[in-house]
Amino acid sequence: MASTHELNDEQVELAQMEAVGLFGIRPYWKDGHNTGIYGLSLLRAICPCEECAALRAAQ
Ligand SMILES: [Zn+2]
Repeated sequence: MASTHELNDEQVELAQMEAVGLFGIRPYWKDGHNTGIYGLSLLRAICPCEECAALRAAQ
């Protein structure tokens, strides 16, 4: 049985990204919603890649 919390394909597929000022991006999802601006510093803070982890450790 499928979980009610599961997102469908349209909800997780990015349609496009828009730069917001110098410090953020706004994702447009295929299901039509585009609420939420993500600051680049936030994305850096939650990014799991080694580069960002090293940056966080250095701070
Ligand atoms: Zn990263």
